[in-house]
Amino acid sequence: CGIVGYIGKRDAYPVLIKGLKRLEYRGYDSAGVALIDKKRRLNVYKTKGKVSDLEAFVSQKDVSGTIGIAHTRWATHGEPCQANAHPHFSSSENLALIHNGIIENYATLKEKLQKKGFIFKSSTDTEVLVQLIEFFQLSNHLDLLTAVQLALHEVIGAYAIAVLDKNNPDEIITARKSSPLVVGIGKDEFFLASDATPIVEYTDKVVYLQDGEIAVIRRDKALEVINLDNVLQNPEVRTVEMN
Ligand code: GLU
Repeated sequence: CGIVGYIGKRDAYPVLIKGLKRLEYRGYDSAGVALIDKKRRLNVYKTKGKVSDLEAFVSQKDVSGTIGIAHTRWATHGEPCQANAHPHFSSSENLALIHNGIIENYATLKEKLQKKGFIFKSSTDTEVLVQLIEFFQLSNHLDLLTAVQLALHEVIGAYAIAVLDKNNPDEIITARKSSPLVVGIGKDEFFLASDATPIVEYTDKVVYLQDGEIAVIRRDKALEVINLDNVLQNPEVRTVEMN
């Protein structure tokens, strides 16, 4: 299972696919990608099987965009199938989220959201998180970061996540607890991944996110790391050996 993300000036898709291939050694049963294109469409493609199956699946599709996230899934809740593969959309399809780990209290949260009218399209534990983020965003008119912070406060479990919001095509929010996540800092571009292997061919500057930290990755802005309680963190930028 693995996570890859990119924001910058390159086409995101090739970077994401290459990154997923570098993470294949971790094992997985499905793969998927989400990209925001120039017209602010949020395109999600996912499939059961190998990264090469995903490539075949998207061969006739629009994979343009300079911002995107990608995922390989090792199913814990819900069988391996296309509907359960990540990224998962929120109800409005404005948000797309990928997750490695387990949301232990997903059933309780799912029931609460279903009572409020949220419709679920998968049987994963993950989908509850993207729906919850949207719920906070819409009911309180919050920005994505604040909604993510509130949602993560409700969640018990382990996670590395990354979220895209099509209304904000210049930002990726990513966070971790008990699952690894690395942010790579390039020149006018950022990478994120479960480990440094997809990153080291592009940059040698990385930040290993700590438990409870959220990285706000914005196009042409400095990386911001903050915790669930909105306290700015002082991330250590490490220099790693490049590939
Ligand atoms: N628990 C999630 C699922 O079953 C994520 C699994 C993973 O880490 O890939 O979809």
